[in-house]
Amino acid sequence: QDEQFKKVISHAKEYGYVFQSSEIYDGLSAVYDYAQNGAELKKNIRDYWWKAMVQMHDNIVGIDAAIFMHPTTWKASGHVDAFSDPLIDNKDSKKRYRADVLVEDYCAKIETKIEKEVKKAQKRFGESFNKEEFLATNGRVLGYQEKIDTILKRLGKSLEAEDLADVKALIEELEIACPLSGSRNWTDVKQFNLMFGTKLGASAETAMDLYLRPETAQGIFVNFLNVQKTGRMKIPFGIAQTGKAFRNEIVARQFIFRMREFEQMEMQFFIKPGTQKEWFEKWKETRLKWHLSLGMGEDNYRFHDHEKLAHYADAATDIEFKFPFGFKELEGIHSRTDFDLKQHEEFSGKKLQYFDHEDNKSYTPYVLETSIGLDRMFLAVFSNSLVEEKLENNTTRTVLKLPAVLAPVKAAIFPLVKKDGLPEVAKQIVEDLKWDFNVFYDEKDAVGKRYRRQDANGTPFCITVDHETLENNTVTIRHRDTMEQKRVKIEDLKDLIKTEVDV
Ligand code: ATP
Repeated sequence: QDEQFKKVISHAKEYGYVFQSSEIYDGLSAVYDYAQNGAELKKNIRDYWWKAMVQMHDNIVGIDAAIFMHPTTWKASGHVDAFSDPLIDNKDSKKRYRADVLVEDYCAKIETKIEKEVKKAQKRFGESFNKEEFLATNGRVLGYQEKIDTILKRLGKSLEAEDLADVKALIEELEIACPLSGSRNWTDVKQFNLMFGTKLGASAETAMDLYLRPETAQGIFVNFLNVQKTGRMKIPFGIAQTGKAFRNEIVARQFIFRMREFEQMEMQFFIKPGTQKEWFEKWKETRLKWHLSLGMGEDNYRFHDHEKLAHYADAATDIEFKFPFGFKELEGIHSRTDFDLKQHEEFSGKKLQYFDHEDNKSYTPYVLETSIGLDRMFLAVFSNSLVEEKLENNTTRTVLKLPAVLAPVKAAIFPLVKKDGLPEVAKQIVEDLKWDFNVFYDEKDAVGKRYRRQDANGTPFCITVDHETLENNTVTIRHRDTMEQKRVKIEDLKDLIKTEVDV
């Protein structure tokens, strides 16, 4: 797993997808830059989401709210008081951990132990080994399993103050059962606010304390009535938005999975109170379908329903994806009731109500939210696409099998050789195709090598101009995943590519 993840990170750098930010100054932790290919992939994911959410739904519109918001926003939303992570320091190593993430790590370690026990037993019992029976009856394994179950029960999304002492005790207990940090000397668990503060205004006396938004959702809530009125929207309707969010995350690891500056794609769907269960199910289904439409494997997704809910929610689920380090949250779907709009009504003194002409009455709508991290989605797509294939001649080929619709470059065009007028024809094809797709011209090295470069780059098609092209205006088109080559007419190229890369 670790090995695969390392490969993902180095491939992302080598092929111009993701760089460490400010690398020449040794980087900034949990901050990354998208490079020439990464920016394209990210944009394509964003567009794919926008198209599905805004363009395809006639009752959803998109906005682009500012990153800076009036500071009272964050009091109303609860972020000033409650947007924090539980922190614990190890007194010996002076290392700081996010308590819930640390507990997760212990869980993972215990799971590895269980796997080892299973493998050992499998070897011993050979054919007659029955995994289910072994897991259900083996004392040691059951002990481990029990530990994990207790942990999962005790750890919810929002840790209350009284839980913190509990978590410390749990960490101490786990460290004895399954040493991870090598030291048992912990501080108490403290809560740490994740918002970045900044100042608006030049002079010290008049400057106003601001926060960089930690989520894009609030920009939608405060604009609810403006959009509803000017767009003449009728409930149920949605407002979608993509944009940067900032969180001072303590645990900076797992590459772009958890960043300090990241991008969200959120949609708040405003509904009639009492219909939230129905819409919650509907949006769970709709969002999962969106993910599956990319063809990255049904088994790589699962729902994780929350038992312990945040103060604003009456139902919540995560769509989890199988990242190289295991199943983790990719998207959240939350039934937020009227919490947000009511809070903003209270703090702003303005009514944020909707007049329902059918029922002839006003109410504060309920909200169903879908929230996905663009960078996390990038990591899901990228890590899932990177494969190493053994070929018949015993060589291996590295392929980035990106869904064609998301690939940064749709087609690479090569002249077979750098003479006989082939480059000119190839360049003309580039000129013709570039109005519709991102294409790339390459004439360096043997054609086989060029194919491999594009495979690793994620380009779904390679088009080669050879001597036959000069006779009959045909070229070969090679498919990245199957490596199959077909001879086609130059004039058919555009439609051929379009059928694969258009949604
Ligand atoms: P986590 O539990 O992983 O910290 P969260 O539950 O706090 O995530 P939400 O507040 O529900 O996340 O945010 C919605 C989505 O935004 C998440 O599903 C995730 O895809 C993305 N996201 C949240 N925090 C980060 C981050 N630090 N870096 C990248 N993406 C993030």
